[in-house]
Amino acid sequence: MPSVPETIHLIQIGEQAGAGSTCSAALDDNPWEHDADQSYGPGASIADPLPSDAPRQGVLPQQYRQATREELDLRIRAAKHALGEKLVVLGHFYQRDEVVKYADFVGDSFQLAQAAKTRPNAEAIVFCGVHFMAETADMLSRPDQAVILPNLAAGCSMADMADLDAVEDCWEELTALFGTESDAEGRQPVLPVTYMNSSAALKAFCGRHGGVVCTSSNARSVLEWAFARGQRVLFFPDQHLGRNTAKAMGVSLEQMPLWKPEVALGGNSETHLHEAKVILWHGFCSVHKRFSVEQIAMARQRHPGVRVIVHPECTMEVVDAADEAGSTDYIRKAIEAAPAGSVFAIGTEINLVQRLANDHPEMTIFCLDSIICPCSTMYRIHPSYLAWVLESLERGEIVNQITVDEATASDARVALERMLALAPGKPVMAA
Ligand code: SF4
Repeated sequence: MPSVPETIHLIQIGEQAGAGSTCSAALDDNPWEHDADQSYGPGASIADPLPSDAPRQGVLPQQYRQATREELDLRIRAAKHALGEKLVVLGHFYQRDEVVKYADFVGDSFQLAQAAKTRPNAEAIVFCGVHFMAETADMLSRPDQAVILPNLAAGCSMADMADLDAVEDCWEELTALFGTESDAEGRQPVLPVTYMNSSAALKAFCGRHGGVVCTSSNARSVLEWAFARGQRVLFFPDQHLGRNTAKAMGVSLEQMPLWKPEVALGGNSETHLHEAKVILWHGFCSVHKRFSVEQIAMARQRHPGVRVIVHPECTMEVVDAADEAGSTDYIRKAIEAAPAGSVFAIGTEINLVQRLANDHPEMTIFCLDSIICPCSTMYRIHPSYLAWVLESLERGEIVNQITVDEATASDARVALERMLALAPGKPVMAA
């Protein structure tokens, strides 16, 4: 099964008729062509506004831009071999295969941060994911370990939709509205919950305000914890994960107002906010937003009996129309537990779906969206950047290190530890 760039190539030369098309012709460009762009680059989130303070990648040395795939392969393997136990390479589920094949662990962001701890001799943790993931790994690793993001431009458009200033402004308005006194049951007026896909600064905000972090695997148990301690929850940045989870717990849509930053009271009336159970931040994932009810209907029409599983970052309508919704880990386990001959239509990032299809030739597994559109931000990591950071390490030079200042990290760890206390991390998949 080819990876996304290879599939794009195959489609372009007509060897894979009917496999769909790409969401952007620029996906076939080399990623360094877009390092200076004012966007996330080609892929699902290209149209999302890139914050002006988002990190930019410097110019990748020419030798890495010009190296052939075979040359890069040899150089990466040689550098990994030379660095030995001093290095651990982490690859996110959504990462392209050309990079994932060098990973020591493959998993979701939190699993990977935990996985790095199993390599105590590692002096460098190279995270082939996006910026917030590298931040989390830095906060959970030892101070003497360096966390490296091969391309600094690999951010996350969803995480960038909630910045600390905007959330603090929101908090100020909510505090003015609800006060700071807990009710008779000891529940604070509002309790902040942030999805793992957020900056360290927002995790720290939650730590400071009695809040917690959640993942797509444990969002329900985290919300149960939060409802026991807060009269209402402020959930950021992903409105869909918040809405889908709370709805499944019986919270009505009327009790889930949407908070639009930069609008007074987030665009809501005081009454509506007073009646709220979950205030949802206006954030979303551009990759998961692409899945639609029509795609599900089409999959059911073409494959009667198909099992449709979507990620909870998809819209509520899509989650309602699917058979199941679950995290990447849930999707992976559901497929592993299914008998040969099963047919799955999956609503999540294309690299993961293609890898699952590759790993399970005894089943039919396809992506709900026939247009190939990977996570733009994850796509910024290319073997050329990996070769560059590894060979730099070999020379004793640390490039692209991600560090979170200790004050922020200490508050963020409070929110992460609250989550861990109620939902311990799951084992990771060794690559
Ligand atoms: S898939 Fe969506 S949420 Fe995940 S890293 Fe990409 S943009 Fe962010």
